Amino acid sequence: MQKEKKCRLCGILKPETLDHFYAVKDRPSGIGSQCRECIRERHRSLKYKERSAELRRFHYATDEAYRERTKAGDKRRKSTPRELARRRVYTNEWRATLVGRAHQLMSSARFRAAAKGVPFELTRDWILAQLEVGHCQATGLPFDFGINYRNEHGMRGSHPFGPSLDRIDAAKGYVVGNVRVVLWSFNLAVGNWGESVLRTVATAWLERASASEGRLSNRTADGPKTESPPASRLPEQVHP
Ligand SMILES: [Zn+2]
Repeated sequence: MQKEKKCRLCGILKPETLDHFYAVKDRPSGIGSQCRECIRERHRSLKYKERSAELRRFHYATDEAYRERTKAGDKRRKSTPRELARRRVYTNEWRATLVGRAHQLMSSARFRAAAKGVPFELTRDWILAQLEVGHCQATGLPFDFGINYRNEHGMRGSHPFGPSLDRIDAAKGYVVGNVRVVLWSFNLAVGNWGESVLRTVATAWLERASASEGRLSNRTADGPKTESPPASRLPEQVHP
């Protein structure tokens, strides 16, 4: 006859097998005193989950071996080929949406702000509203929201016509009124030396380019792919 065991919590008699009770190594019977259902019930409770999380945080903060084990496990789980592929697909799909792009711009700017110790007060919705305008606030050129840009040498990088957050006064940080959304290429060009240097260099370069274009009048010029008024159009391929 099947031996039965009474659960210490619910008091119900159940067959003394591992189907109904968990195995417990350091008990003479080798079997737990509470039935599986009662233990599952307890593990589902919010109080138990909160207590477990608290214990994990405590061990993480105080026990170096535990911390290293946790980090190693996280790293291992995140770097399986399957997980990497899943994240790549997810990231690309998310970044391809306007909301995803706004989120990405926000989180990377927040990271830079923390690193530089400047204020960050932008919201994702504010950035999204700027992106929905659709064009650069400095040049008026339309944004290209394409992802996975590669330059003519096949190198990955930021899309030159993609959006970026530009601080007007770098020290004031990322706060509304001090940030405009401009082309990456414009931001990079202005970032190091400021607009007056870019204006001087670009003007001189354009004048020289148009002079040499006069000499190469038989050359067919390919315009930029993006639609823009001719006044703000920069020649893409000029060989002085
Ligand atoms: Zn029970």
